Amino acid sequence: MSDEPGEIGDVDDAADHAPEAGTLYDQARWTDDGEYEPLLAEKDSTEVEIGDDSPLPEDLTRDSLELPGLAEPELARHYTRLSQMNYGVDSGPFPLGSCTMKYNPKFTERVAALPGAAVHPDRSGESLQGTLELQAKLQDYLARIGGMDAVTLQPPAGAAGEFAGIRIAAAYHEANGDDRSEVVIPDSAHGTNFATAAMSGFDVVELPSDDDGRVDIEALEAAVGDDTAALMLTNPNTLGLFERDIERIADVVHDAGGLLYYDGANLNALLGRARPGDMGFDVMHYNVHKTFATPHGGGGPGAGPVGVVDELAPFLPTPHVRERAERSSADGSSGEQSGPREQPDGSGYERYEPEQTIGKVHGFSGNWLVLVRAYAYIARLGDAGLADASAKAVLNANYLASQIDYEVPYGPFHHEFVASAGEQDAADAAKRMLDYGVHPPTTKWPEIVDEALMTEPTEAETRGSLDDLAAAFNAVAAEDDAALEAAPERTAARRIDQVSAAREPRLSWHALDE
Ligand SMILES: *Cc1c(COP(=O)(O)O)cnc(C)c1O
Repeated sequence: MSDEPGEIGDVDDAADHAPEAGTLYDQARWTDDGEYEPLLAEKDSTEVEIGDDSPLPEDLTRDSLELPGLAEPELARHYTRLSQMNYGVDSGPFPLGSCTMKYNPKFTERVAALPGAAVHPDRSGESLQGTLELQAKLQDYLARIGGMDAVTLQPPAGAAGEFAGIRIAAAYHEANGDDRSEVVIPDSAHGTNFATAAMSGFDVVELPSDDDGRVDIEALEAAVGDDTAALMLTNPNTLGLFERDIERIADVVHDAGGLLYYDGANLNALLGRARPGDMGFDVMHYNVHKTFATPHGGGGPGAGPVGVVDELAPFLPTPHVRERAERSSADGSSGEQSGPREQPDGSGYERYEPEQTIGKVHGFSGNWLVLVRAYAYIARLGDAGLADASAKAVLNANYLASQIDYEVPYGPFHHEFVASAGEQDAADAAKRMLDYGVHPPTTKWPEIVDEALMTEPTEAETRGSLDDLAAAFNAVAAEDDAALEAAPERTAARRIDQVSAAREPRLSWHALDE
């Protein structure tokens, strides 16, 4: 086996370890001389002349361009084949714990594709009234869902939301003349929490978990003090465990003058049933791509709106959107300079700069069409639908855990669980699951479980697909190290060098020539 990216699995080799039963899905492989799907430019390359009647300056234009001269069917087949060499939530179950790879319903795509959905953000507020109204309504929906008082839509991902939220907490303390240098984070937290605190200039205080996998209250009391700016908490935590002592935890932090930050990645477990604001959280982010079924960024566009309680609202990023009729002239904030002309009745929406804003954290209003999809999803499901989604997410996780042979050391859990691969290497077990045609769970994290398989089926799976998933887990659990180490055998690309792929990505087809 080699680490060459894109190397194609050899079918004969695979025979030794071929999974026998229950394989759901095989990725497509390009079999023509054992190579790869040719690039468009390799299939056809045509020199296209460009006329010299361009209005652009001469140094910005060229005379000709190499373009593939393919017909539409060839193009459609090329991209369809490439998509079949991949695996996504549209191919089958995708139980990647913590990431919540929820199925993205297609109606949200239709809404985002409506002609009026994408407008140029530099248009005047007057001509953007519908867009601003949708922003204001989404801010309100999210505030209501989280039990927060105000929400910004600007941050482009959960991690970016964390950063904005902790910047807001820092600005709040600073405005109070309160010098606080530490952020407290449990050892089960996502790596972005630690990165956020450090990048915001805080010292990180890591909190050990207790034997149940939850916050150790005594350790918390010892860790929190005059230097504590905030405690960052995920609830339920990354083991899927609800922090039963959350009110006590909130008191400990608030009594010391600190703020409580809610990492919203696991909101899918509580949606429509419990609210971070009611638990005592002061600031939170929402991962709309995890909770509200917008597509995951994969480094591309996502969204991580941030909610805050009233006391923190003056620090929100600018511009913020509000309903104009509610503006009070004494609130100290400045309305939009070239603001919208008032409707005859004085109503409408406007952008404004919050009084003590931390500034901008993204261009304009964030990744707008991702937010349109979140709005469509929330509006379609309504209160009852959102509560139903969290119920099914929890039921599905518990059902799947009851069907698998791997041990699940911590519980009772909510929407996700962390199994242990035991004597097996969790990463090898995950690669082997690919051979059974399912996406594996998150592996080797959180570190408090040995060889962790962090599993979150989401509410979108049927009992049948949960049974298929369980069959794949159990087939892999019964296999020996040789089978696991040789995996994956049946995928379009065999085991890749993950470190080089991340650190020295070859992003251009030119790299194939080198
Ligand atoms: C996904 C995740 C984050 C980061 O969110 P992104 O939207 O991926 O930037 C933070 N915390 C937890 C627990 C997560 O699962």
